[in-house]
This record gives sequence, structure tokens and C-alpha cells, in this order.
Amino acid sequence: MRVLLIEDDNLIGNGLIAALSIAGMSVDWVRDGLTAQEALRDVGYAVALLDLGLPGIDGMAVLKAARKQGVETPVLIITARDALESRVAGLDLGADDYLVKPFEMPELLARMRVLVRRRAGRATLRLSTNAAELDTGTHEFSYNGRTEVLPTREYALLHALMDRPGQILSRAQIEERIYGWGEEVESNAVEVLIHAIRRKFGKGVILNVRAAGWMVPK
Ligand code: CA
Repeated sequence: MRVLLIEDDNLIGNGLIAALSIAGMSVDWVRDGLTAQEALRDVGYAVALLDLGLPGIDGMAVLKAARKQGVETPVLIITARDALESRVAGLDLGADDYLVKPFEMPELLARMRVLVRRRAGRATLRLSTNAAELDTGTHEFSYNGRTEVLPTREYALLHALMDRPGQILSRAQIEERIYGWGEEVESNAVEVLIHAIRRKFGKGVILNVRAAGWMVPK
């Protein structure tokens, strides 16, 4: 799951990157409002974490502009501004949730999961097809009577496909979902991951669509 972190404080930013990476997320970190605005517009993040006090454009203005442009990415405000007015203003401007610093990582992760789930309109933590099931809490994947906890990248790849069963994702779309900016991506990285998943679960778990990409059947 690819996440955008908008935070100008180095200490907090580094801490969050470490914790989110351990939780299996791929994080793009931006430190100012203008870059944040561009990133929100150009990349389909699963969730954005937004600090309000930012150099350049203020976090509230970033949020307002993004919603005006039709960006639907769930936004979780993380800020030290605990005044009631700014909470209400943030939610009014289209934030999905609000967490006041300092906060505990498990709470942040739980709230992020809620936002991802809510956006998908699902009440459960599981993405399912006829033959497969992916638990977004435990990263367990079940197929063909076999259940395994997936390594980070394999999970991210299957999450991207299981999010939209029956739809084809191109290599670029898959890479965008599972790798952050500046990460070296080998040209055959997606094939290597798919090969690893098929070795565990069988060939039919992910289908090739010639010259177009990959999909999981509904
Ligand atoms: Ca700040």
C-alpha cells in the first residue's frame, strides 16, 4: 500500500517512515505544501498523512485545493494543533480523520486501515474473490486451500490486484502501487514477485493478459 507523508519535521518524518515501512507500507515523503499538492494530484495513494503547519502552502490549503481538484485520497491530519476549531475546519475541508501529536503508532495504523477500508466501502478487513482471500490486517493470503502470510512486496502486489478483481493492471500501475519514489525498480521486478506468488499458490492465482498486464479473476 502506497502512502503519502506530508510532514516538514525531520524527526517526526523519519520516525513515521520507519514505523510505516515496518508495517509493510511504501511511503513517499514530501516536506512542503506545493510538492504535497502535486503528489496528491498525480499519484493515487491509499492514504495521505497531512501535517498542517508546513512551509509554503499551509496544510489546510493543500487539503482544500486537493478536494477541489477531485482528489479522493483519504486524508488523515496529523498535527499538534489540537484546538477544536482547527479539527472542525479540517474535517469540513474534506479530511477523513484527525490525530493529534504525539500519538501512538498502533493507533495511527489502525486509523489508516479504517480509512482504506471505508474508502473501499467494505466493512471487513478482507478482500475476497471466488477463489482467494486477502486479510489486510494480518497479510494472510488464502488460495487453493493454502494460507500464508505474505512478505511485504508480494502482499502489496496482491493487494493491488485483489482490490479490483477482474480488472487488468499494467506493469506501470502495479509498480506505482508497490514502490515509492526514488526506489530502484528492476525491469523484471513485477514478474519476479508474481513468480514467487505462483510458486506458493499455483499458476492460476494471477492471470497474464497478453501485452496488457495481470489480473486476479473475480
Ligand atoms: Ca509542521
